[in-house]
Amino acid sequence: MQENPIKPTIPFDKDGVHHGFLRLPYSRDDSAWGCIMIPICVIRNGDGPTALLTGGNHGDEYEGPIALQNLAVSLKPSDINGRVIIVPAFNYPAFRSATRTSPIDKCNLNRTFPGKPDGTATEKIADYFQNTLIPLAHIVLDIHSGGKSLDFIPFAAAHVLPDKTQEATCAAAMRAFNAPYSAMLEEIDSVGMYDTAVEQQGKTFVSTELNGGGSATARSIAIAKKGIRNILIHAEILIGEPETAPSVNLDITGDNCFLFSEHDGLFEPLTDLGTTVEEGQLVAQVWPLDRTGVNPVEYRARQSGIVAGRHFPGLIKIGDCMSVIGRIEG
Ligand code: ZN
Repeated sequence: MQENPIKPTIPFDKDGVHHGFLRLPYSRDDSAWGCIMIPICVIRNGDGPTALLTGGNHGDEYEGPIALQNLAVSLKPSDINGRVIIVPAFNYPAFRSATRTSPIDKCNLNRTFPGKPDGTATEKIADYFQNTLIPLAHIVLDIHSGGKSLDFIPFAAAHVLPDKTQEATCAAAMRAFNAPYSAMLEEIDSVGMYDTAVEQQGKTFVSTELNGGGSATARSIAIAKKGIRNILIHAEILIGEPETAPSVNLDITGDNCFLFSEHDGLFEPLTDLGTTVEEGQLVAQVWPLDRTGVNPVEYRARQSGIVAGRHFPGLIKIGDCMSVIGRIEG
């Protein structure tokens, strides 16, 4: 089997706090024998369970990187039993260019799994996680937000899975994160996702969508920090009491959750995030860009629920995800 060229500069199996890099060789015009240096922190105290925590899977989502930078300077080995592996900027080239996908190969890391050890930069990162880091973990948290093109109400998510025991284990960890909303989710297309790769290895997996628009807020960062701590306590790695508050259960499964634009135009949302809507209610409309005197195209909710996500930029293109409506459970 082809060996992955990524080399860690720190040990994974020694007690203490280790800050270093995943070093990915990347030969290029300005650095002939150069490398991409992906920051990583490993904090270990004994043989307990391992949590793998990532942000920046998409390079324009910031709650994960900020909360994980904070964790890497504040978590002490004496606070834990086991090991915490922290990668604040998973697709590091994308993070440095503040774009969803990598500027090197244009790959979306979260559609690249299982990756290739002899592929492009993003494929090599995916392969390294697939074959080296995921197998080390008992629980995996991948912190997402909407990025520049989407905005969400803050929710933690677990997936509907074929193995109902694993689904229940993931859902319990998702509820332990205790975001303001807790969602059971079916992806539009799960092929190539990190989520799927982790779940197929039988691990407990939690994802989030905490905000969006290509920035972070004090509130959304606080949700990420609290959720990380709660997840580590839930996994019996961090010693302490979880901080809990009421969380609304959402069901984001099925095609009727999603509205996709069938027009290019000027996007007018008529319902904001967190608003309750009825099936058939006007959610948004799209105005022509190039003339007056033409009525907008109306978009209506395909089911009753709460507006959980929306297109963020002021202009919208045909095919863009316009609105996500989740059903409120219980
Ligand atoms: Zn993302």
